[in-house]
Amino acid sequence: MNRAVLLSGGMDSTCIAHWKRPKFAITINYGQRAAAGEIRASKAICEALGIEHIIVQADISSLGSGDMAGLPPSNSAPATEWWPYRNQFLITVAAMKCHALGIQELMFGTLKSDSFHTDGTGPFFQSVNHLLGLQEGELQITTPAIDLTAKELIEVSRTPLEILAWSHSCHVHEISCGFCRGCEKHFNTMGKAFGHQY
Ligand SMILES: [Zn+2]
Repeated sequence: MNRAVLLSGGMDSTCIAHWKRPKFAITINYGQRAAAGEIRASKAICEALGIEHIIVQADISSLGSGDMAGLPPSNSAPATEWWPYRNQFLITVAAMKCHALGIQELMFGTLKSDSFHTDGTGPFFQSVNHLLGLQEGELQITTPAIDLTAKELIEVSRTPLEILAWSHSCHVHEISCGFCRGCEKHFNTMGKAFGHQY
């Protein structure tokens, strides 16, 4: 069975790539402000892990909101980086590519701590799987880290610092800004996982 990971180049999807070693990694340039940094990180991670890297261009920047789109967050945003229906869109675009590549399993890097985003929860992914199952293609979405914290995922996946050092978590720029929620989570998690080495 061919498998792929949806690879943003952030810590969580990087750990899943290292842990599960799928044949393919799919990175989507959807017009997010950090796209160039995410693509650069994903490319380096795939080269290091021997995973075939696929980049898909699907610009929806005109439909975004929040930090990642360079716009003010909407009134219903649970966090400043919230982008309406983003995960649903990313899964659909990746599913189209999976169909073309003959992939049956797409792994998505959501964590226990992502549950404040409704589109990062178990019920959301169960519903997406149900929806995909109503259609041709026989693709399944799996979430190997949904019951783990970021630190637990690093431990379970045994992802070393030399791989995670490539990861890019900034929400607002292709070079880490050091101030956004993505950068803050990155530094906190790396500090907890690697302590003085980092
Ligand atoms: Zn940042």
